[in-house]
Amino acid sequence: MSEKARPRGIHALRVAEKKLAARLAPIERALAVSQALEKLVGGPDAGTGCEVCRHPDRSAIDAALASGTSDRRIASEYDVARRALFVHRRKRHR
Ligand SMILES: [Zn+2]
Repeated sequence: MSEKARPRGIHALRVAEKKLAARLAPIERALAVSQALEKLVGGPDAGTGCEVCRHPDRSAIDAALASGTSDRRIASEYDVARRALFVHRRKRHR
């Protein structure tokens, strides 16, 4: 009895798995798109898309940020967006 019940159970599981995978596919695609967008605007795993990280004077900007220089001053001195400074510090790109 258990010999017959087992394969059927596995089969049912595989069918359920396929249905689930079909439902998840569009979600996974949307997730990939959102992760790509986050990289562009400075999401969790940004760094490459961050204006400050790509800045030639990045180490000087980091030093200024660490020393407590105001965002406004750094922004005008190094010609970066204050928003980018905010994201860079907030996400701790180091
Ligand atoms: Zn950064």
